[in-house]
Amino acid sequence: MRSTKSLCPECLAIIDASIIEENGKMILEKTCARHRYFKDIYWSDPVQFKRFEQYLHDGGGVLNPSGSNGNCPHSCGICTSHKTTTILANIDVTNRCNQAYPVCFANASASVILRTIPYPDKAMMQLLRNEKPVPCPAVQFAGGEPTMRDDIVEIVKMAREFDFTQIQIATNGIKLSRSLELYRQLNDAGLHTVYLQFDGVTEEPISRTGASMHFPST
Ligand SMILES: [Zn+2]
Ligand SMILES: [Zn+2]
Repeated sequence: MRSTKSLCPECLAIIDASIIEENGKMILEKTCARHRYFKDIYWSDPVQFKRFEQYLHDGGGVLNPSGSNGNCPHSCGICTSHKTTTILANIDVTNRCNQAYPVCFANASASVILRTIPYPDKAMMQLLRNEKPVPCPAVQFAGGEPTMRDDIVEIVKMAREFDFTQIQIATNGIKLSRSLELYRQLNDAGLHTVYLQFDGVTEEPISRTGASMHFPST
């Protein structure tokens, strides 16, 4: 259907890739000269893929790149290779979690070293808001589980001071479901979106991964 550039998942070399339609799916296929042939589902619905392709738009680039050599993604800051400024920034505020979920997108249960970004990390948010020509409008605090931090409300307040128009937390929702007070504090601090993960209503999709569900009792 069309060709593009992609990364070798083994060595991160930038390699040619093709997007093709096959058996009712959009497939991304690529071959790294040093490694092998890779093939993955890119979009599960070709109709939706073609619909979204109509809106494909390249921006004019970043006027004040932080990494200037264009060697993306190896020394990106963001660099001169980017067509737009950051749209949604993810800031991992901790890798602690109150769940050991086998299909966590951050693979938090596999972490052995606990990390928490220093607080207050204004420099990170300032860098995003300084991007030109369009300041980064949206930030999502992720982890780990961001509500494991006692100062998550303060972090949201800080984002509000930087005038992000969209402030999100990516959370498993456990602490929020048990504390209306925490919800109120986050809401008052300026949180716009609680971004939840949903994998199914039964254990089956999880057990198919070979893992088992484990919810903490407290
Ligand atoms: Zn490779
Ligand atoms: Zn880059």
